[in-house]
Amino acid sequence: MKPFSTARATGVHDALHQISTAPDARFVAGGTNLIDLMKYGVEAPSRIVDITQLPLGRIEETPDGGLRIGALARNSDMAAHPLIRTRYPLLSEAILAGASAQLRNAATAGGNLMQRTRCYYFYDIAFTQCNKRNPGSGCAALDGFNRIHAILGASEQCIATNPSDMNVALAALDALIRVEGPSGVRVIPIGEFHRLPGDTPQIDTNLKPGELITSIHLPPVTGNPRSHYLKVRDRNSYAFALVSVAAWMKIDGGNIIDARIALGGVAHKPWRVPEAENLLKGKPPGEAAYRAAADAIVQGARTYPNNAFKVELAKRSVVRALTTAEARS
Ligand SMILES: Cc1cc2nc3c(=O)[nH]c(=O)nc-3n(C[C@H](O)[C@H](O)[C@H](O)COP(=O)(O)OP(=O)(O)OC[C@H]3O[C@@H](n4cnc5c(N)ncnc54)[C@H](O)[C@@H]3O)c2cc1C
Repeated sequence: MKPFSTARATGVHDALHQISTAPDARFVAGGTNLIDLMKYGVEAPSRIVDITQLPLGRIEETPDGGLRIGALARNSDMAAHPLIRTRYPLLSEAILAGASAQLRNAATAGGNLMQRTRCYYFYDIAFTQCNKRNPGSGCAALDGFNRIHAILGASEQCIATNPSDMNVALAALDALIRVEGPSGVRVIPIGEFHRLPGDTPQIDTNLKPGELITSIHLPPVTGNPRSHYLKVRDRNSYAFALVSVAAWMKIDGGNIIDARIALGGVAHKPWRVPEAENLLKGKPPGEAAYRAAADAIVQGARTYPNNAFKVELAKRSVVRALTTAEARS
């Protein structure tokens, strides 16, 4: 591991100052992703800024009836929080589908938003070709073992996926991400937070250099949404999603009046297709409607030698997640 210096930030402004002292400095929260990447030699910051002492761990209701989740809230505290379990059970379910109890005790909301891909070729520096790790070097996954890779939104430069479960639920819940940086405060809708790889796969998110995530906001819940998070993976625990689906809908008068479907494991960011969601609106709930939406979601999918199975898996997972959500009230 390359030598690095550490600093412990005493407040948000101190954190912003500390991060500005070296262009390759990184914040560290739970450390469950960054420290791994440093040990593997994938990331080699000259300075890390410990933000764990910042007062950003609270989960609280906002005056409009929504929820503010501090960036340092632990994943286990989020999943167990009464307001999340009762009002946003989709988020609780998604977090509990991820990692292990020990990891969730350490992992934070902000760190989870920022976690990097689990592409084997990104993680293993023995492979020199990785545009995400080493821009311009190529993509070993294109001609390699690409079973876990993207089927939607990928580019010739990168076919990696976003590995997070939490992010998929946040996408279906229309979360807002509050960040603070040298130019002040910004609020980024979750759909614009993560990026598609395009020509710059080394940039995962639209967070600017030196910006700190301070909180995640969930809009107030109205009506009686039903939801389900379905995660399909090689092992039943402690494995990343091959495909996951966060399904959320409202049914009234025998028809679906609102629907959101976000997919994980299929793209470089949580994947939503508004046209597919619109297909459900005004229709009676049931397999016919769910199949039509599922077909629309995977339209335009591009597969690679080892991951063609993901198209059918994604379609079936969408139908199953919506069917399970429908049965809940
Ligand atoms: C064995 C294993 C299995 C796992 N399985 C799953 C799984 O099934 N599903 C899943 O979703 N996840 C899984 N994870 C990933 C885990 O959820 C992440 O490692 C964790 O959420 C990262 O949070 P952290 O606080 O530890 O981040 P850190 O490691 O501290 O930081 C990660 C990145 O976020 C940045 N960062 C952290 N906080 C902030 C902030 N407030 N503002 C700006 N940048 C910030 C850091 O600079 C760093 O770049 C697994 C991890 C491991 C090790």
